[in-house]
Amino acid sequence: MALGCLVQAGRAALRARRGPGPTVGSLAFCTSPCPGPPARRSCAGPRTTSPSFGFLFDIDGVLLRGRLVIPAAKKAFQKLTDAKGRFHVPVAFVTNAGNCSRENKAEELSEALGFKVSPEWVILSHSPLRLFHEFHGKCMLVCGQGPVEENAKALGFQHVVTIENVRKAFPLLDMVDQSRRPKVLPPPTTDFPTIEGIILLGEPIRWETCLQLIIDILLSNGNPGAELSTVPYPHLPILACNMDLLWMAEAKMPRFGHGTFLVCLENIYKKMTGKDLKYEALIGKPSTVTYRYAEHVIKQQMESCGWTSPLRQLYAVGDNPMADIYGANLYNRYLQAQGEVSITAMAPESEAHLEVQRDHRSICSAESCQSILVCTGVYNPYGDMPVGPNENMLETVFHGHRDFHFDPSLVEASHVVHDVNDAVDLVFQKEDWKNE
Ligand SMILES: [Mg+2]
Repeated sequence: MALGCLVQAGRAALRARRGPGPTVGSLAFCTSPCPGPPARRSCAGPRTTSPSFGFLFDIDGVLLRGRLVIPAAKKAFQKLTDAKGRFHVPVAFVTNAGNCSRENKAEELSEALGFKVSPEWVILSHSPLRLFHEFHGKCMLVCGQGPVEENAKALGFQHVVTIENVRKAFPLLDMVDQSRRPKVLPPPTTDFPTIEGIILLGEPIRWETCLQLIIDILLSNGNPGAELSTVPYPHLPILACNMDLLWMAEAKMPRFGHGTFLVCLENIYKKMTGKDLKYEALIGKPSTVTYRYAEHVIKQQMESCGWTSPLRQLYAVGDNPMADIYGANLYNRYLQAQGEVSITAMAPESEAHLEVQRDHRSICSAESCQSILVCTGVYNPYGDMPVGPNENMLETVFHGHRDFHFDPSLVEASHVVHDVNDAVDLVFQKEDWKNE
């Protein structure tokens, strides 16, 4: 699926509201000219009943632990797919991973689960950045690891510089690792472009280098070779993807996620300037933008499979209460309010914010989104999370991002099950669904 379709669908829907044309519902599936190949039909053969519900599966801690597949995931997908690996019901994979491409993540899942996973069904933390047109023509610094430049360009950003580009152009800035300091004083760089914004795609490697250079860029208003007498504020716009403080790999204890890197950056900036670091947008789970995008993917899959029932119910299965459960519950709250709730943690004055708001109001259709928490990942049923409505989470630990208000009801899952296989059983039972 082409990422730009969501915006096109939103605009088309607005046009449809103004005059004659196709219905909003049909436009939401982007039947008009979208870049990229059409969605592959990978669904089970014709049946008398179409599903009116869909699954949003988190990946790490639900389906995989690092490179290892969780056995329950294999069992679950035996129920969700037929012998040819075609889905019986719509499924999307919604991960906060962002240091990779959708194609790579789909390949990884295909290998682990034993059937072909299309990249069109994979939503990474940075996928909604395609909506942020106002930054696509600006010179943006991109930070993360893996093919960051390629990923940013694939999302529509045309002028991208990397941390490594900055380090090479200004070798006197990166001084923590003594072995990387220049042996001789280089001539000053004069032709480096002014950086106009920063994209934080995911946790980088060499945090000391990235933290130093990002702070330099913020304090110099995009010209890291310059020295300003006052701190520019508001600072350059920052778009950040994936706020997960921790994630679960093969190790028994959780690992640092991008949220931990953001904590470092926010605190260093605050300590150095006395001011708060501000984000133009925070995307990836639990942001509502990401769930809206996921709903669009589910609806597109339903249409490509010829499933005609309207999408009524989403089930979001995850292991991280602060990302998966908070996000699904926040989206559910949004659906219940029919678009009246503002999209969290996105600067209200930004064009992207307005565009997404318009898009949401135009093409939302699911009635609700239920959250299902599994115990195979970050969530520890015996850990710090509140186990009942009367327990106060503020007295324990809040792992969510600084800009997301803590609300105990948002981290309370609709259902808690042992693993993803139990989650699928639960949903099939609730929906009275039997594969034909
Ligand atoms: Mg997870």
